[in-house]
Amino acid sequence: MPTRINLDHRGIDLNSVRCPVCDEDVETEEHIFVHCNLARKIWKDVLLWWHVYNVNVLGLLEAINLVDKVNLPPPLSTLFDAVVQTTLWFLWRYRNEFAFAPKRPNLDFLFNDIKLFSFNWIANRHKNISINWIEWFDNPCNTLSIPL
Ligand SMILES: [Zn+2]
Repeated sequence: MPTRINLDHRGIDLNSVRCPVCDEDVETEEHIFVHCNLARKIWKDVLLWWHVYNVNVLGLLEAINLVDKVNLPPPLSTLFDAVVQTTLWFLWRYRNEFAFAPKRPNLDFLFNDIKLFSFNWIANRHKNISINWIEWFDNPCNTLSIPL
């Protein structure tokens, strides 16, 4: 990935290799997707939204495969995995907007965008799964009316 530290290792001269979002550490994949304060906040929000407790995202591979750590029955596990992948994509997008867009992205919209885009992607990619938007936004575990 073209993180600042990876670009620096390839000889591209940058003003800084620190995270453009928090400026608290070197920008690696692990930092962007797991350890940055922004990522920690978003993973916490996602897990609470899904009523997943006692699970922490400690590394990038763990984040990518988070569905394996969460005990959800299918097809909820499929939906949760789509949310995880959407979250990773949005963390990368937020970082890029923060670094390159003329206007700083609004952090208040990030979590709602993850909810909205994951809903849209699931609704459009899984024609055999019918999910209710209102339930999805409030409690995705109830979206299919499957008791947990
Ligand atoms: Zn950071």
